[in-house]
Amino acid sequence: MSQADQCADHAGERADSRQVQALRGSMKYTIRLRAAACVIALALSGCAAFSAGGMSATTARYRHAARQGRESGKGLAVYTISPSEFPQGSSFAAIRDANPTSEGAQLLRDEVLTDVTIAKTAQERGLPNAIGFAVSWAGQTQRFIMFYERPPRSIVLQRSSMDVQWASLSQLAESTISGEIPAVPRSIQRIGLNKEPMPPQWPVTIPSDMRDAFEVPVAPAEPPAQVDGHDYAAVADDLKTRLPQSTDEQSRQRANAALRRLEPAANLTGLNWRVIVFTGAGPMGFGVPDGSLFVSDGLVQILDDDELAAILAHVMGHERHQHARACAKRRNIMVAVMLVGGAFSLAGTGIGFFLIPTGNYVGLIADPEFGYSDQHELEANSAAAELLTAAKLPPDVLFDVMMKLSAQGQPGTLAYSQMHHLPVARAQYGLMLDAGMIAAR
Ligand SMILES: [Zn+2]
Repeated sequence: MSQADQCADHAGERADSRQVQALRGSMKYTIRLRAAACVIALALSGCAAFSAGGMSATTARYRHAARQGRESGKGLAVYTISPSEFPQGSSFAAIRDANPTSEGAQLLRDEVLTDVTIAKTAQERGLPNAIGFAVSWAGQTQRFIMFYERPPRSIVLQRSSMDVQWASLSQLAESTISGEIPAVPRSIQRIGLNKEPMPPQWPVTIPSDMRDAFEVPVAPAEPPAQVDGHDYAAVADDLKTRLPQSTDEQSRQRANAALRRLEPAANLTGLNWRVIVFTGAGPMGFGVPDGSLFVSDGLVQILDDDELAAILAHVMGHERHQHARACAKRRNIMVAVMLVGGAFSLAGTGIGFFLIPTGNYVGLIADPEFGYSDQHELEANSAAAELLTAAKLPPDVLFDVMMKLSAQGQPGTLAYSQMHHLPVARAQYGLMLDAGMIAAR
């Protein structure tokens, strides 16, 4: 945008600022009418009536509710905003009249139309290049972050979830600006602004008193000092016979070399590290609590040596924490609850542990409900960062490889990106790097 255009735009914004005041009043009235109409419509014909009116402040609130249900406790969801989605600029009228198609731009538009503070910020500071959205664990607080590339700036807005629920259909929400930093954290530059990998050092941009505002996860507990995974050796042996061994000798050699780089730091009695490369076209990788690490040759072939070490370190992190054991326990408890009688007594004896068919081991850890959780991924990544640092590898390699594998987008429960919750995991790990919680070398 030229200087002249910018000046014209600012003049427009000043005019629009008055419009916002007027609109704010008229929107309140409109929303009240809509709310009344919706209650009647709901009584008559169910929820479908809500979508009939097209885009409105009311539908925005429903989108919020859906988002809240989907993302509660999942940390910061980051969306890219393409300027072409708002061709007329950042004035209130331009945003109102735009017809964006991407999820991020629609969310931004909804926010501008329903939240007075966000509308004001967009007018005064222009449209952000990316936004972040988060709902607190308890669902009480919503955070909305506007990321600006030039000059670099991140503005954190916060409000109560009650503002966007049924009780307040007749009011516009009003956030408060809870913080601002003169930077866009590197993880957001990579995820939200589509920047290429950047060399170490990874700059610390999120001060410790701003960690909550940016949804930086709490540092997970260290892995236990002692583990014993020997009881899973039979599961690993069984898997080894079921999965076709890779015929790609180079992949096998590279995977073993990567393990040797990490092994000195990962030395732990009770775990017997070994890497098994199986034939698989897509990127797949998982471990077994005895210390066996399974990777597909399709994964090995698309990674360089450092990236391969980073992925192995992550899988080793799961086994340092014995996460599969936790998944198995959770599943047994659920089965016991569902079956209520005999299985319940089994759960109390510890025998239930051996009831998992080994053939389903991978299905267990990949299960969306009982498999690895977001917290497991956080713990595995934290443990991986320590291994990488000890092996003199920059821990941000792990972030870069997660970006790479997210882009692969391989469907299927065995795909690395799906089993290891990459969109959430990379955002969490990246924010920990941004906050200096992981010692970058
Ligand atoms: Zn994982």
